[in-house]
Amino acid sequence: MNSIEAKKDTAIRAASRETLKRAAAFALAFLTLLSFAGCARRDPVDPYEVVDITGGSEAETAAPVTPAPPTEIPTEAPTEAPTPESTATPEPTFTPAPTKDPSVVTRRVYLTFDDGPSKNTPEVLDILKKYGVKATFFTVGRFVSVYPDTAKRIVEEGHLLACHTYSHDFSIIYQDPDHFVADVAKWRSAVKKAVGYDAGAYVFRFPGGSTNSTIGGRSGRKDYLKAMHKEGYLAMDWNLGLNDKWLAGNKDHLPIEEYLWKSYQETWSYFKDKPPLILIIHDTEPASVNLLERLIEDLIAKGCEFGLCDELTEDYLM
Ligand SMILES: [Zn+2]
Repeated sequence: MNSIEAKKDTAIRAASRETLKRAAAFALAFLTLLSFAGCARRDPVDPYEVVDITGGSEAETAAPVTPAPPTEIPTEAPTEAPTPESTATPEPTFTPAPTKDPSVVTRRVYLTFDDGPSKNTPEVLDILKKYGVKATFFTVGRFVSVYPDTAKRIVEEGHLLACHTYSHDFSIIYQDPDHFVADVAKWRSAVKKAVGYDAGAYVFRFPGGSTNSTIGGRSGRKDYLKAMHKEGYLAMDWNLGLNDKWLAGNKDHLPIEEYLWKSYQETWSYFKDKPPLILIIHDTEPASVNLLERLIEDLIAKGCEFGLCDELTEDYLM
């Protein structure tokens, strides 16, 4: 091989090496591209992947099994973060509905016991204590003197000790207003002596009521009221009652307690919406005392609360 041929041979070998190098580089680049393309097509490893054995395509069958979201959570993510306004408690825009049963009307009722104290009055006080109810006792002075301890108990247990004259004798008290006032003064002395101090109240009740025939009805009572006002007293009648001093009204000859209950229900029906509701009971009558628990429970069931007569304003008194 001459020198020219040797150079030519060397050039050819170099060219071949260069071609091989380029071919190798091209092949490497091609393989790399293929490799990336393959990675792009491969799904990430999913342990919950469902393998299709029916021959369907991967895209249709390989949805991952995830637990169903709780129904109260929205299935779509919010598009923006909640603002402080949207998470704050909304201001009420209407009046809330009343929580109390509207069919139960709160009424104030005044239990009043007339003509005692009597041997039945301690039982009345026990029942009132059991129910936590306060009442007004329109007492007769001469019986206050007979039952001083009971009179004292009336006051000590938070009830109102009110006046129903000393004698309760129509032939004495209704002679004229002066006799009436003098009889009331005797009542007040009897109370002071029994209780130990001037424990009476300014409310009083006329024996027989303010319109009884002996006093002369509405016109006849005027002078009596005027005389009593001078002494600082105001009068009150009643609207609810048992007719326990009017047994002649029992025309159907009902058993006594049935008659009293019927009378009470009749007065309730008539006066229930005409306050103040003032119930007269005679604690001298055993049948009335026997009904007392039933009466109190009935009044509570009717939505009543109980008050003392000295809370009534002059608008309701005479
Ligand atoms: Zn009386």
